Amino acid sequence: MAFPFPLTVNPAGHLVIGGVDALELAEQFGTPLYVVDEQVVRDRCRRYREALEPVGGLAVYAAKAFWTGGMAQVVRSEGLGADVSSEAEWRLAMLAGLDASRLVLHGNNKSPAELRLAAEGGVGRIVVDSLWELDELERVAASSGARKVPVLLRLLPDIRAGAHGSIQTGHRHSKFGIPIEGGQAREAVRRCLGSARLDLRGYHVHIGSQILSLEPYRQAARVVAGFAIEMARQLDAPCYEVDMGGGLGVRYVAGDEPPAIEDLIGALAETLEGAFTAAGMEMPLLIVEPGRSIIAEAGVTLYRVGAIKRLAGGEIVCAVDGGMSDNPRVALYQARYTAVLARDPYGTPAEAVEIAGRLCESGDVLVDGAALPEVRPGDVVALLTTGAYHHSMASNYNGLPKPAVVTVREGQARLWVRRERFEDQYACDALVQTLGANRSL
Ligand SMILES: *Cc1c(COP(=O)(O)O)cnc(C)c1O
Repeated sequence: MAFPFPLTVNPAGHLVIGGVDALELAEQFGTPLYVVDEQVVRDRCRRYREALEPVGGLAVYAAKAFWTGGMAQVVRSEGLGADVSSEAEWRLAMLAGLDASRLVLHGNNKSPAELRLAAEGGVGRIVVDSLWELDELERVAASSGARKVPVLLRLLPDIRAGAHGSIQTGHRHSKFGIPIEGGQAREAVRRCLGSARLDLRGYHVHIGSQILSLEPYRQAARVVAGFAIEMARQLDAPCYEVDMGGGLGVRYVAGDEPPAIEDLIGALAETLEGAFTAAGMEMPLLIVEPGRSIIAEAGVTLYRVGAIKRLAGGEIVCAVDGGMSDNPRVALYQARYTAVLARDPYGTPAEAVEIAGRLCESGDVLVDGAALPEVRPGDVVALLTTGAYHHSMASNYNGLPKPAVVTVREGQARLWVRRERFEDQYACDALVQTLGANRSL
């Protein structure tokens, strides 16, 4: 059967992740279980860092893809910064010891409290998403007494890229960014230059996610450079930094062939350098914000199979003990995955099966037409490439607890996040808390 990338098996023929037998992980930690291969994460971080070294660039990991204490520590120890978009993501970064100067604050509707936290905390850059936010930030900065706040303006370049409509963020109908067209972005530059509180560092763009070709990146780099050069000429605006966002695709199913990290950085650096040099300007600091391409392929979700049935139409449905509560991406983006049987990943496929979740929605299907050897109740199924936008998007729908996260490295497994309990799920429920104090639940 066709895999998106090679898998490791042990002499017993079982799937191995980070040197640990997947069946043992399922046994020891229970299912559903998010497993993160730490070495894969570290390798990706290192590749970004090394690719950026020649141009002196900076990689900031997009926290929203997957953000736990363990992950934040890995990101810090690998020398990356982080892109955060809420108070909680910011606070976790600070707890893990990340330097505020390597943090980037994002969001299309940041609260005044978040702007203040970042401004007073010495944030590296705030990526301003609208003219409204520029005024908000001006007010916050004026009352906080913080030093000049470093600002990148998020530009809306009108480029369509990304695997699904819901993850395309650079086209003219997107809610993100300040439109170049119509003069709003120019107005934002003008206001920054006229402000005693804001320090315009440069520009940002993020065109989408799961992008499998370099052309949209080159196009975006040309648009950003073009705008920066125009603003330098017209308004004498400086451009010290260009942040090209994230979005590099990963391998979910056989045939997904994303560009290499090194080629992405090469294409960005070359396009920007070419444009700025031709205009007689210095090459700005290149920043990138990878999320998915760092964590997605490092993650595997293990599920236990329960009910198996054959429908009247002949299809076989295998239900697992998780579903859209731990993986909403199928319902959100029609995402496709590769599933393997943990006890025999390379086994000859039997009749194709539908792997369904256990939640009360007909759309709760993880893989339609999975090619697995004959599946039996009690089997462990592994879904590949689930590191990004799974744990961070998980819900408690149907009252399911969020799964545990285990990290594996060199044959050792460590618990990063324990499975939720009833008490965790209802910790904020006032009535439950009152009842719980009076009788045992
Ligand atoms: C989501 C996001 C990223 C990361 O995108 P990936 O596709 O996960 O690499 C980077 N920058 C911004 C502004 C984002 O919203």
